[in-house]
Amino acid sequence: MSNAVTDPKAEAAGTASQSEIMIHVNGEMVPKSQAAVNVFDHGLLYGDGVFEGIRVYKGKIFKSEQHMNRLYACAKAIRIDLEKFVSRERMVEIQRECIEANNLVDGYIRLIVTRGVGTLGLHPFKCPEPGIICIADQIQLFPPELYEQGMRVVVANRPRIPIECLDPRIKSLNYLNNIMAKVEAIDAGCLECIMLNTEGYIAEGSGDNIFLVKDGEIYTPPSEAGILEGITRKFVINELAPLVGVDVHEKNMRIEEAFEADEIFLTGSAAEVIGVTRIGSTEDDAHQIGSGKEGPITNKLRAKFRQIVTSDNVPED
Ligand code: PMP
Repeated sequence: MSNAVTDPKAEAAGTASQSEIMIHVNGEMVPKSQAAVNVFDHGLLYGDGVFEGIRVYKGKIFKSEQHMNRLYACAKAIRIDLEKFVSRERMVEIQRECIEANNLVDGYIRLIVTRGVGTLGLHPFKCPEPGIICIADQIQLFPPELYEQGMRVVVANRPRIPIECLDPRIKSLNYLNNIMAKVEAIDAGCLECIMLNTEGYIAEGSGDNIFLVKDGEIYTPPSEAGILEGITRKFVINELAPLVGVDVHEKNMRIEEAFEADEIFLTGSAAEVIGVTRIGSTEDDAHQIGSGKEGPITNKLRAKFRQIVTSDNVPED
């Protein structure tokens, strides 16, 4: 049953058919205008928490099991014993309730686990229970035409935070490293950047993983380069690339290898699969990638991706 006030236009677009979307906040379903957090929640005070960005395709939670595995593993890594408070089954049920309440067919779920309400000090264990927020809505990371044309990116000056400081495998609420790199991209007139690690190897984008294509094979930085182990990245490696008959290798790479690549593409739950056709901010330091248009392997992967997520067999595992 939906709380929605029917809006046929929104329904046709696959959006919430109501004036206000409904959001799950700590056990309650509330309208967006009333969805708020306590100012003593350490998620707000310190960015102390973890989250997931999850796609909904044809009403199904894409790769739900993998997102749950990562969420619970990340919570554990920052010493939140999530299972003690919310079972995985309940966590999936919360998402389904949000999908249903908002009549979502194709959309995006932001699932947030905060340390919870505590005192003003850092002490995480003075927060008795984690906060849980689930937002089911729409997301458009990049303009649709860039998916056809490919996009320009810059190389961020700011390196990805090293594993020994805060492991990028933990999808924590601390995203300032990525946000400030994204600001570098925006300042340079584009929407995404390539982040290097402190050793100068390619790590990832500010909100996506990166792949290079050279001589018909695909290369991507290994987990040890200091990246988020993306679920879309894994989908490309284990399912899409084999389907289009291309081998994928994990390899540490310098930025010069990206300049020389035949194709580059980025992957993420929000970004999906998108080509990179130029690196650099000005004509002087710009590197055209391959032909300067979306490459054939990127195009095949993107088409396969779309075919699967619009099919009747959207994978939830
Ligand atoms: N790297 C970073 C830093 C990200 O924020 C994301 C988006 N979650 C990704 C990679 C891609 O991960 P996924 O495919 O699981 O969305």
